[in-house]
Amino acid sequence: METKIAEDADFIEPTMASDEDILQIHTREYVQKLKTATLSAQEETQLEIPYSPELVKAFWLAAGGSMLAADLALKDRVAFNIGGGFHHAYPNHGEGFCAIHDVAVAIRRLQADRVITRAIVVDTDVHHGNGTAAIFGNDPSVFTLSIHQEKNYPAHKPPSTVDINMWDRADDSEYLDALMPAVEKALDEFRPDMLFYIGGADPFCEDQLGGLSLTKKGLLERDRRTFELARQRNIPVVTALAGGYARRVEDTVRIHINTIVAARDVVLAFPRSSRAAGE
Ligand SMILES: [Zn+2]
Repeated sequence: METKIAEDADFIEPTMASDEDILQIHTREYVQKLKTATLSAQEETQLEIPYSPELVKAFWLAAGGSMLAADLALKDRVAFNIGGGFHHAYPNHGEGFCAIHDVAVAIRRLQADRVITRAIVVDTDVHHGNGTAAIFGNDPSVFTLSIHQEKNYPAHKPPSTVDINMWDRADDSEYLDALMPAVEKALDEFRPDMLFYIGGADPFCEDQLGGLSLTKKGLLERDRRTFELARQRNIPVVTALAGGYARRVEDTVRIHINTIVAARDVVLAFPRSSRAAGE
């Protein structure tokens, strides 16, 4: 690949999450509907993608991907699910292209295995992380931070631990000035054992479903600075892709690739975190 960010051996294939793992987040009734093709017409409309058995498998696989990435991040300090980030999925229904909340499933699995206690979800997709906020709303072990365009989908935004509501057409510096201090404060005060980064390519100025004005450079800076803050504190990072609907699909691809480039650059710049080096 042109950017030389990965070799064949860096790609590890996930397996589908088990129903047991999915059921730690989603209700039995909803899982049953997905597995038996019995969503109501209204539920399918709300999901906004046509139902198929393959779709269900893809979401179980995405959850398996985030679980695998989380396991790998414990060892390698940073890992990517090159999919996932389905932050609009609720326990009892799907919304906005999201049927299963892969990141929430991964967090619960790691907590159940007692490899982490506290997790933070930093969600920079242009749309509010409503499913994440609903799932972890009463859970002090998971800090949810969402930066999003306020006047955009979803209409109902249950409160995250921290919500940063951006005005229409906010640019790179307005966005970064709002986001970076909030991430730094959250990491220092909450001291999570793992950071789940729902990247999102859709704050890009030419996104068809977004209304912010970030450039590719600004998005790269967003990723780099977030990873830097985590690295300096020796917090493993798991990234999921989330949304991206640029007019030119190659822009969306580039923004997602840049997230991986940003992680590599941070790892090279900080071979060991300052805290780990003192241990
Ligand atoms: Zn989005």
